Amino acid sequence: MVAAGRAAESGANAVLLEKGSKLGRKLRIAGKGRGNVTNTAELRDFIEAFEPNGKFLYGAFSRYFRDDLLDFLRKMGVETKVERGGRVFPVSDRAGDVANAFERWMESVGVRIKYNATAKSIEVKDGRVVGVKLYGGRTDADAVVLATGGASYPKTGSTGDGYHMARELGHTIVRPRPALSALVVSQNWVRQLQGLSLRNVEVTLLRESPGQEIPTRIASEFGEMLFTQNGVSGPIILTLSRKAGVLLDHGKTIISIDLKPALTREQLHERFIRDFKQTRHFKNYLHDLLPRLMVEVFVRLVAIDPDKPVNTITASERTDLVDLLKDFRVTVKRMAPLDEAIVTAGGVSIKEIDPKTMMSKLVDGLFFAGEVIDIDAETGGYNLQAAFSTGYVAGEAAAEFAQR
Ligand SMILES: Cc1cc2nc3c(=O)[nH]c(=O)nc-3n(C[C@H](O)[C@H](O)[C@H](O)COP(=O)(O)OP(=O)(O)OC[C@H]3O[C@@H](n4cnc5c(N)ncnc54)[C@H](O)[C@@H]3O)c2cc1C
Repeated sequence: MVAAGRAAESGANAVLLEKGSKLGRKLRIAGKGRGNVTNTAELRDFIEAFEPNGKFLYGAFSRYFRDDLLDFLRKMGVETKVERGGRVFPVSDRAGDVANAFERWMESVGVRIKYNATAKSIEVKDGRVVGVKLYGGRTDADAVVLATGGASYPKTGSTGDGYHMARELGHTIVRPRPALSALVVSQNWVRQLQGLSLRNVEVTLLRESPGQEIPTRIASEFGEMLFTQNGVSGPIILTLSRKAGVLLDHGKTIISIDLKPALTREQLHERFIRDFKQTRHFKNYLHDLLPRLMVEVFVRLVAIDPDKPVNTITASERTDLVDLLKDFRVTVKRMAPLDEAIVTAGGVSIKEIDPKTMMSKLVDGLFFAGEVIDIDAETGGYNLQAAFSTGYVAGEAAAEFAQR
C-alpha cells in the first residue's frame, strides 16, 4: 500500500495487485488488533532490533522514518499514543484505522487497486521487468515492487508467493523460518498449565552445550508469558524466540522462569524460615505462593510430600523449593510452525538488493519491500515500520525508474 501510494504520488501510473478481497489484512490484526505501528526508539536502536541485517535498513529509515509515518497518520486523522517500551499505537486502539488511512490516501493519489488478482510470476525481457503474469491474465509494467510479505499467518494472504517469484528470477532466498513465535517444549506436563498467564516474571534463555555443567545465559526478559498446549508463548517469549531460533541449531536450549524476580534467594529463604513455623500442609501453603493451576505440577517437580506440614520441611527441601521458584525450567524442542509465527525470518537476500532504492541488483525495474526481504526484528513496532519505510523508498524509486 505504501509503495503503490508513493509511486502514484511520484507520478507513476500505479496499480496495486492484491490476491485477496481486502487490503492490509495482516496490518489489521497487528498488535492484537491494536496496531503497534512503530516505536519511539532511536535510529541506532531500530537498526539493532533487526540484527544481524539491521544496517541494510539504514538507507530506507534515513529516507522515511517514524516521524514521517506519524505525520502522515496525523494528516489522515489517525492520532497515536506511546505505550510501554516506546510502542506506538493509534489512540483508537484500532489497527484498522491505520489500514483505512492508507487506503484513503491511495485513492486520493490515484492508485488503481485490483482485488482477487494473484501474481504468478514477473515477466523479464533483456534483464528488465516488462510485466506481471497473473493467475488468469497479465499486466504490463515498467517496474514492479514485490511486497508479498512473509509466509506466516497465510490466511492474511502472505503465503510466501514472493519467494518463488524472486527465486525464479535468480534471487537467493535465505531459508524462511519462524522469527517471533511460540516455543514448543519437551515437557508434557505443560499441557496441564495451558492457558496460564504469568505476569511479572523474568525469563532467561540458556544454552547448554554437550559436557557443559552450567548453561550459558543468552538473554533475559521481564514481563508476561503464558503456557500453551505444548509449550510457552506470550510477549516476552516471542521476544526471546528470535534468539532461541538461532540457538536451536547449536545445542540444548532452555527457558528458565524466575517466578519471584522481586525476591532474592536469601529473601525467599528468610520468608520460608519464618512461615514454616506453622503446621499447614505444604500444598496449602503453595496456594498462597503460586497460581492455582501451577500447584500440582510444582509439587511434582519439587518432589516434596504435598501433605507434609510445613514445619517438618527440611533445609535441603527448602533449598529445592527456592531453586525451583527462581529457576523453573523447560527445554525448548522447536519453534511453533512458521504459519503460526508473527514474523518470518529469511527471505530475499539483502546482498542482492540496493539498500538506497530497494531495487534488485539482478533484474532492472524489480523492487522489494517489507517482510519478503530477509529482515526481521523483535516485537515493538519495528517490523511494520520497516515495511512502511522500505515500501516508501521502493515506490518512489520504482516510479522514477518507470519514468526514465
Ligand atoms: C498476529 C500478528 C501480529 C503482528 N503485530 C505486529 C505489530 O503489532 N507490530 C509490528 O511492527 N508488526 C507486527 N506484525 C508483523 C507485521 O504485521 C508484518 O511484518 C507486516 O504486515 C509485513 O508487511 P508486508 O506488507 O511486507 O506484508 P503483508 O502485511 O503480509 O502483506 C502482503 C500482501 O501481499 C498480498 N499477496 C501475497 N501474495 C500475493 C500474490 N501472489 N499476488 C497478489 N498479492 C499477494 C497479501 O494478500 C497481502 O495483502 C504482526 C504479525 C502478525 C501475524
